[in-house]
Amino acid sequence: MRIPKVYKYKLCPNATQKGVFRRWLGTCRFVYNLCLEHRICHWQSTGQGLSEYSQNRDLTLVKKEPGFEWLNEPHSQVLQDVVRRMSLSFEHFFRGAGFPKWASKHSWHSFRFPQAHNNSIRIEGSRLRLPKVGWVKFYYHRQCEGCIKQVTVKKQAGAYFACILVEQCHDPVPASESQAVGIDLGIARLATLSTGEWYANPKLFQRFGPEVKRLQRKLSRQEYQSNGWKKTKRRLSRVHAKAKRCRQDYLHKASTAIVRKYPALVVEQLQLQNMSRSARGTVSRPGKRVRCKSGLNRSLRDVGLGQFLEMLEYKCRWNGRSFKRVYPRYTSQKCANCGHTSPENRPTQAQFRCVNCGQADHADINASKNIRDLGRISGSQYGQGLRALPVSA
Ligand SMILES: [Zn+2]
Repeated sequence: MRIPKVYKYKLCPNATQKGVFRRWLGTCRFVYNLCLEHRICHWQSTGQGLSEYSQNRDLTLVKKEPGFEWLNEPHSQVLQDVVRRMSLSFEHFFRGAGFPKWASKHSWHSFRFPQAHNNSIRIEGSRLRLPKVGWVKFYYHRQCEGCIKQVTVKKQAGAYFACILVEQCHDPVPASESQAVGIDLGIARLATLSTGEWYANPKLFQRFGPEVKRLQRKLSRQEYQSNGWKKTKRRLSRVHAKAKRCRQDYLHKASTAIVRKYPALVVEQLQLQNMSRSARGTVSRPGKRVRCKSGLNRSLRDVGLGQFLEMLEYKCRWNGRSFKRVYPRYTSQKCANCGHTSPENRPTQAQFRCVNCGQADHADINASKNIRDLGRISGSQYGQGLRALPVSA
């Protein structure tokens, strides 16, 4: 089975290469806006649209015009990819999305080499070769396996990254039901496995929160759009970007460890929208525990549970493991030992003590065992778990 995969590396371009990236980004943005303008004018005068093919042909003509020689600096396929992006924007528009917007300096952050023919893009040591740019140093923090198909250069919070799309071959690993492991997701503990293993919440808010608060206070005191304001804004976005990278790094490490160890995973279908819904309520029916719940909302975003589930799912697909989602009703109140379901089984948030059989466990471990069992009962399709579950409460 051929599986596409993206590796992301931080680039360390030298001053010349940074200049090249900056100019290419500007040229791409110019070409995008040019294409958009051309499409609008063409439609206004003839009532007809333009194809990607004809815009590409026009682009080669514009490149030969005097005064537009600088359009020849970026790799030709990079600009063709911009034309393709334009055409995709229109496809989205025809399917009901908004009309394509003008590309502003603040919204245009990437360009792409859509093809990697004849070793034109390759890695040697900790250097990446890009057509017309040359060898760019980068942090080669993990092995890039597979055949390189595309490379996208992205600018994020002032730094450049390369997203390398590769294609890998994997065969599915057969798994039996008895090897299934249930996973309970939560706020205090990111993931608790039915084997008793657990992964903590990365607690990024505690680490980056004070810095973010300090910068936000500073920003609010500064004059809007002044040089100091812009500087603080840049620093703030760097802290946010760093927190995001730390979170993703943690989620990636945890999900990889779980997928490597177990051949079949059963997880709960999260209802994040319900969980993170505003607790304030209405004037006639004010919500309960508002402060408590808004703290929960913050930590929910902090943890990134939905993202974690996605990682588990696609990593299972990459590695040929079985992955199942079940509807998690009563998993926190049901006893995994005897099946007795009652809210009284939970004396505290973390504790589980069955009032029927006396079985005691950590509440999250009990829940993850229930999730594992739901996966066994419910068959392969999500949603059947609810009907198969005996509900006595
Ligand atoms: Zn029990």
